[in-house]
Amino acid sequence: MKLLLVGLDGVRVDLALPDVVAGDPAFSAPDHPADPRFVAGPRESPVQEGTTERVAPTLTRLAAGGRVVPVWVTPPTDSGPGWASLLTGTTHEQNNVWWNEFVGHRLARCPDLLSQVFFADPRARTFAACTWPALVDPSGSGPVIHTRPDQQVGGQHQLFGATDFTDGCRSADRQVRTRAAWVLNHEGPDAAFVHLEGTDEAAHRHGSAGPEYLEALAAADEHVRYLVKAVAERYEQLGEDWLVAVTTDHGHKPEGGHGEDEVVVRRSFLLLHRIGGRLPPALLDLGTLRSHEVVPALLAAVGVRPGSYAANHPVGEVRDVPSTGPTRDLRFEW
Ligand SMILES: [Zn+2]
Repeated sequence: MKLLLVGLDGVRVDLALPDVVAGDPAFSAPDHPADPRFVAGPRESPVQEGTTERVAPTLTRLAAGGRVVPVWVTPPTDSGPGWASLLTGTTHEQNNVWWNEFVGHRLARCPDLLSQVFFADPRARTFAACTWPALVDPSGSGPVIHTRPDQQVGGQHQLFGATDFTDGCRSADRQVRTRAAWVLNHEGPDAAFVHLEGTDEAAHRHGSAGPEYLEALAAADEHVRYLVKAVAERYEQLGEDWLVAVTTDHGHKPEGGHGEDEVVVRRSFLLLHRIGGRLPPALLDLGTLRSHEVVPALLAAVGVRPGSYAANHPVGEVRDVPSTGPTRDLRFEW
């Protein structure tokens, strides 16, 4: 089974898929508390009530033919720690990404899901296209997705970062969507990640309670339709088996903004849909997830098993000898 993961930045799933959220109590409150360092101020953001039917017809159709798993993001709910956790399957403590500056990150030892697919089989072909440069740009502050230049030489690993910001993230998202749809349709990589940011930009500019945010949700939904259409055609014409997944790194307060522990900000989702077939049992059995549990679930579903040392092998440990000079113990003098 091939994998397409779409990351929609800053999506309020209660607005994108209101019926799904209303119908599953696991979406009502976080499954684990926030670290006190990242709690919001005293005011609790009211969850907006609105008429949002059909704002996201593609996501609604994908959900109807698949399932939507509740995901609760662990604060801080900024994009850097959010995507670092969602895309590598590691916690903030493991990857040390706490803010969008990525200072002190340990991403080199926390490979992204595409790299984990490659490590499982070096023949694997992988692709990522992203609007946010921190995810794929080697000259940026990340990147979260490993560049793997050896695999890029022959096109086995392709990275595309948006360059057209003439209309902000709207033009960048269109560029990313168009490139991604082409590569998905013509080349069918074994695993792909596509990141779109228009929803996040709209909420930062206008808040998430108004028509601008719903328009951005609708635009993101239409981008997803292009991507799904690309892989659905490969199913139809070539019989390829595709798992489509959609997620977000955080929601948005009604007035716009995120980073702390409000329910509307911490609430995420993992939408799962198998093109032309039923989801594998492992995905049907999934309960509520935390962001670092998304990658292991997806990799298991597509048949990727991580390699490992025997337990207790001190892999990656860095220690130095003290500079106190020799002990003169002749057993260790050589
Ligand atoms: Zn974000």
